[in-house]
Amino acid sequence: MAALTRLLRSAATSGSTARISLSTLASEPKTGFPAGLAARLAPAPTRKERDERNVQWVFLGCPGVGKGTYASRLSQLLGVPHIATGDLVREELASTGPLSQKLVDIVNQGKLVSDEIIVELLTKRLSKGEEKGESGFILDGFPRTVRQAEILEGVMDIDLVVNLKLREDVLVEKCLGRRICSECGKNFNLARINVEGQNGQPGMYMPPLLPPSGCMTKLITRADDTEEVVKERLRIYNDMSLPVEEFYRRQGRLLEFDLPGGIPESWPKLLQVLSLEEHHEDKQLAAA
Ligand code: ADP
Repeated sequence: MAALTRLLRSAATSGSTARISLSTLASEPKTGFPAGLAARLAPAPTRKERDERNVQWVFLGCPGVGKGTYASRLSQLLGVPHIATGDLVREELASTGPLSQKLVDIVNQGKLVSDEIIVELLTKRLSKGEEKGESGFILDGFPRTVRQAEILEGVMDIDLVVNLKLREDVLVEKCLGRRICSECGKNFNLARINVEGQNGQPGMYMPPLLPPSGCMTKLITRADDTEEVVKERLRIYNDMSLPVEEFYRRQGRLLEFDLPGGIPESWPKLLQVLSLEEHHEDKQLAAA
């Protein structure tokens, strides 16, 4: 990880994306996912590397799709940190550092922060984790541009990229329903999505994710979750981040996952396609 943080930093500042020797790596990924995809996930880490580290996964998806929710649940299940670059940006905004002023307008207009700044924030976060002995990660919200994907590609092996998908009208409603408890920091969603099936497509129901009564009076809305800004973020996603999906699709590393509904319906199906149901049951047994 030390090498990673050094390389990330130098790649972002020098523009170099020199690749480490990926082609020498063996074929089996660390954690289960569908055999077809596993076979196409080249290159995977060597046995030695696998034994020494945890999963290194990326979550892609439009604003509001639920990347944070599912990435955070999986990170708990797999015992790896969930690193969301949006959270890193919001922490920076909440600080009084010099970067904060620079970022506020960019974020509140729904624009992307520069690749250099975002790589710098991610590098800092990885260095801190390294000091604490963290290994592996689930990245959420990074990479968001092809340049960021190339920088990441140049410095480390990504085992799997999960692409979460939902129809656009639902995404907007979900973003507008998002709330955060200003005290405990947990995320909730007040939107109750109930879309009728059309033209042979099934309907979709997503129950709200309501806060406990203690959080109810402390809920806040993100400044960038207004209808206008959400639509701009979706436009920018289509412009800048769809090519990132294509980047990983071409490499055979992209696992497409159409969310079938809310968490109760989607979570077990996601575990199933990741071949993690057993892992989940083991954890539940251990916790019992
Ligand atoms: P979203 O709900 O749109 O997925 P995030 O919480 O991931 O939101 O990010 C919030 C904001 O932080 C983004 O709109 C963008 O301004 C900034 N940001 C987060 N990650 C990146 C990134 N990888 N590159 C550039 N900007 C980013």
